[in-house]
Amino acid sequence: MSTTSSTPASTETREARVVEAAPKQLLIGGKWRGASGDRSYEVEDPSTGRALCSVADATPEDGLAALAAAHDAQSGWAAHPPRERGEILRRAWELITERHEDLSLLMTLEMGKSLIESRAEITYAAEFFRWFAEEAVRIDGDYAVAPNGKGRFLVTRQPVGPALLITPWNFPMAMGTRKIGPAIAAGCTSVIKPAHQTPLSMLALADILNEAGLPEGVLNVVTARGAGSVMEPMIRDGRARKLSFTGSTSVGRKLIEQSAEQVLKVSMELGGNAPFLVFDDADIDAAVDGAMLAKMRNIGEACTAANRFYVHADVADEFARKLTDRMAALRIGRGVTDDVEVGPLIDSVQLDKVDELVSDAVGRGAQVELGASRGDGEGYFYQPTVLKNVPLQARMTSEEIFGPVAPISTFTDEQTALREANNTEYGLVAYLYTRDIQRALRVSEQLETGMVGLNQGMVSNPAAPFGGVKASGLGREGGKVGIDEFLETKYIAIGGL
Ligand code: NAP
Repeated sequence: MSTTSSTPASTETREARVVEAAPKQLLIGGKWRGASGDRSYEVEDPSTGRALCSVADATPEDGLAALAAAHDAQSGWAAHPPRERGEILRRAWELITERHEDLSLLMTLEMGKSLIESRAEITYAAEFFRWFAEEAVRIDGDYAVAPNGKGRFLVTRQPVGPALLITPWNFPMAMGTRKIGPAIAAGCTSVIKPAHQTPLSMLALADILNEAGLPEGVLNVVTARGAGSVMEPMIRDGRARKLSFTGSTSVGRKLIEQSAEQVLKVSMELGGNAPFLVFDDADIDAAVDGAMLAKMRNIGEACTAANRFYVHADVADEFARKLTDRMAALRIGRGVTDDVEVGPLIDSVQLDKVDELVSDAVGRGAQVELGASRGDGEGYFYQPTVLKNVPLQARMTSEEIFGPVAPISTFTDEQTALREANNTEYGLVAYLYTRDIQRALRVSEQLETGMVGLNQGMVSNPAAPFGGVKASGLGREGGKVGIDEFLETKYIAIGGL
């Protein structure tokens, strides 16, 4: 493992400038304002553990004010021409693209991922706006003759209404644009609450949408330290008609219960526990490339992260050796310079959790090939880790690791591999490496997941439907169906013909 630590003075000045430039207040009804009682909380740089700045800490009353603004703007926004809704998104895509470097640095500072990864996320995030700019004008309907010939069916699709959007810290901008894009395109107003650790990227994004011409009240942003106390009154209020959440399954379950009271339309992008299967006929070098992406994208802090590697016994040693070599060569450090590939984990809670899961696996007999320890300086660093012979009873086979840890187990027959892969409450994504087309299709069909990476270590694409089954969620984001989550179907029965 090589570590990179020094930060040049010019970079420090840029850091201060991009943090200074980001809004720090709540956006309600098109106006930036402080939280009631001027409450604020500190945002931390996870690579140092030191405060970057403070942002507004909304109260439940502030949340309800944001919901009122979204509610007031709803009918006007629904009537806004779809082409213009799309053009605002398109302008925002252009502005994000122009400010790509500053937005990437801001994200690295609050989230920790390397600049290389932040740049990739900003591009990915912006693409949701370009995609949904194009989808805004393709909201279709239907006209049909009733089967008995005596009437006509007119089917139209309308915005569901004000939406509450809640996003996690791991992809601070993309998880937002994946919701805001289709909401704007569909004609829904919204209130978004980003994760408390990473509010700055969302605040900067809201600023860009204002500049792109989004009317007042269409997007409202509430930053808060106490998510539950601010969101629950909004969910139970009755003026919101939609809740779109990305985060953990445990919080998602709670929010589904809260949404039941007002029967909100819910979308849930929840946790994952992705299996990564390597068969004996796989191209091992390609599988290692895919494993590096599936495991190390976002420092392993991704819902799509490969959480369990099942490798055929005949190729397991070669796969483990090559993966270990690649993991060992990663450059770790504060992500603000171009030479760093792997940043810190988000906070001390996540660092303790990863450490605990590794200790548990090792305590149960897993063999350490690489890493298995915390960084020794400031910040929340954990070394890229490879474990072999991880027993099925290890906690990390059933819990999301959310860190740079690759646990490898072996199998000898396809049915056992499939049974293990499906032996989880989660069902977001699975990865599969094989050169046998029959096996590829047979196994893909039997994997109980919403997505499969077939000879590919990354599935995320704004033009494709992202989402899971089982405890990984409800609904899809992105692709042609992404806008459906923000639309209701209305059928008008026409008589007298
Ligand atoms: P989390 O703890 O569930 O938090 C997610 C968001 O929910 C944050 O904004 C959080 O606010 C908010 N929240 C927490 N408790 C709440 C409550 N009682 N009521 C309303 N909102 C509440 O998840 P996380 O640790 O940020 O993110 C990691 C999880 O997200 C992982 O499980 C990961 O797999 C999942 N994820 C899923 C996808 C997907 O597309 N399926 C994508 C990315 C991440 P605070 O920050 O203030 O707590």
